Amino acid sequence: MAAEAVADDRLAGAARGRGCLTVVACGARPSLGWWRAVALLAAAAQWLFGSAAFAVEVNFQPVAPGIYAHIGEKAGRTYDNEGLNANLGLVATPSGSVLIDSGATYRSARQIHAAIRRVTDQPVKWVINTGGQDHRWLGNGYFKEQGAELIAHANARADMQARGGDHLQALKAVVRERLEGTVPTLPTRWIEGNDVRLELGGVTLELKHRGGAHTPGDMMVWLPDRGVLFSGDVVYVERMLGVIPVSNTKRWLETFAVIEALAPKIIVPGHGKVTDLATARADTRVYLEALRAHMKKAVDDGTDISAAIRGFDAQPFMRLLNAAELHPGNASRTYLELERE
Ligand SMILES: [Zn+2]
Repeated sequence: MAAEAVADDRLAGAARGRGCLTVVACGARPSLGWWRAVALLAAAAQWLFGSAAFAVEVNFQPVAPGIYAHIGEKAGRTYDNEGLNANLGLVATPSGSVLIDSGATYRSARQIHAAIRRVTDQPVKWVINTGGQDHRWLGNGYFKEQGAELIAHANARADMQARGGDHLQALKAVVRERLEGTVPTLPTRWIEGNDVRLELGGVTLELKHRGGAHTPGDMMVWLPDRGVLFSGDVVYVERMLGVIPVSNTKRWLETFAVIEALAPKIIVPGHGKVTDLATARADTRVYLEALRAHMKKAVDDGTDISAAIRGFDAQPFMRLLNAAELHPGNASRTYLELERE
């Protein structure tokens, strides 16, 4: 998990975001007095509205009738994105809406709620956490207060309990006072089994789990009537996926096989733009298969871990954002996993 450099000058950020662009666009050369006025205005805005004026921006865009996605930043967690560098989903039905993943903080959950209100009047009835990573569930506390039922796979429970505190510590270093109010809040309804069908307001949601992928509780949300899949962290596009210590690449590929069988028209991945099966294959499945095949041979041949990592041709995947940073760890953890198999 990469925590990118934190923007430390909020005033400068505010000045950039509030009006300066128009001047640049107009071609005028602002005077020193003008800049001072902007800085004063920004400071006044911060004083008047508190830090809420600078909260992370959440926007749900339609992907199918009644179905929306927020596409998060692809780079690491920052002060500005409040750890919400991941995608979210929203299903609006006449009997309530379903939020897929609750963001990384209490404050960003409030922003998510405001964004939901811009597309539906229906209350958030369910929040489904698609995995145990911070930005999938640490916003739960806010939505519990709003009366939502929090749902995750039972296999996420131990992972959330084990890593929730560490996630909070890591986020604290990046989002600082913006973490205020964030309390790891476990789901109230645990899904058992591989395939569970839920229905709300005439919309069917099928929950798909195959023993974990990026995290042990990874669960996908399939909307069969619309051909839309919210894959959670089973699919990454445009950016390099992360094999972390709790990942399991074997089960990850078994989970991916479910996507192949469903043949979704639209995939909302865990990270990266709304996509299709071919792109999901190219950016996630092909990499995992290549890595596993290479590391299996290395383990079988008795090749040591550093030689095995050096011997993998990662070039085809270096086009993916964060690849240089994440690939070495992915390679070593995949080797260790194959050693255990
Ligand atoms: Zn993620």
